[in-house]
Amino acid sequence: MNVRKMARGAGGGATGASRFGILADRTRRFLIGDHRMAPSSQALKTLHELHGRLQAVQDALARGPRQIQAQKLTVEKRQAELEARRQKLKQLKITADQRNLQLKTNEAKIADLRAKLNLASSNREYEILSGQIEADTMANSVLEDEILEALTKIDQCQAEVKQAEQEVAAAEAELAKLTADVQARIPELTAQARALEQEVAEAEKVLPESIVPNYRRAVQAFGASALAAVEHGTCTSCHMQLTMQKIVELRSGKLLFCSCGRLLYLPETA
Ligand SMILES: [Zn+2]
Repeated sequence: MNVRKMARGAGGGATGASRFGILADRTRRFLIGDHRMAPSSQALKTLHELHGRLQAVQDALARGPRQIQAQKLTVEKRQAELEARRQKLKQLKITADQRNLQLKTNEAKIADLRAKLNLASSNREYEILSGQIEADTMANSVLEDEILEALTKIDQCQAEVKQAEQEVAAAEAELAKLTADVQARIPELTAQARALEQEVAEAEKVLPESIVPNYRRAVQAFGASALAAVEHGTCTSCHMQLTMQKIVELRSGKLLFCSCGRLLYLPETA
């Protein structure tokens, strides 16, 4: 019979935790040569709190680059808006130039018609030329209205371009400030994370070796919530009610994992 089988036989009371192979009674510790005392609830609570603080610092470290990335997208969006307005302005100017050219061409034509009118040799010719002049003058009046409208639109669009330029500048300034702030916080946050990692490693020393693999898996899966306090007989992570037997085992210092995978501990008040 190997040690594991002996341990399983001797620690038969730990059936609830058998899913994780947890046998944290004295027999097991004796059999596998782990003579450390079972960690106190307070030690587990401290470990849980340290995990929480480490997670908060890691989150703060990860948040910086995400904020910078989001602001970069804002800058790109503002730049695209500016470019769209510049294109619109360019198009409005082209349209106004075309109308102006048309107006000048028509004016030259009218001047030419007037010269011919002065030389008209018959009433019939005079009437035809007068009619053409009238029609061209009317067309120019429409063109002048269109040019005026185009110039008004150009004014509006120029104001929009200016506004968009200011928005791009503001977004770029915000990006620069954010980047500087994030960069400035990295050394301090990194130092805090390293210090907390050490504190966590130190606090983990209370865990018997036998539960370390399951504990590591829980940390891998749940991060800072690898541990869960038991309050009112319930796992505070999954809110499952624990059996009286498990509560008794926890009170007696046994290490148990909840069916949700968290390492359970009783707060001092429980
Ligand atoms: Zn649970």
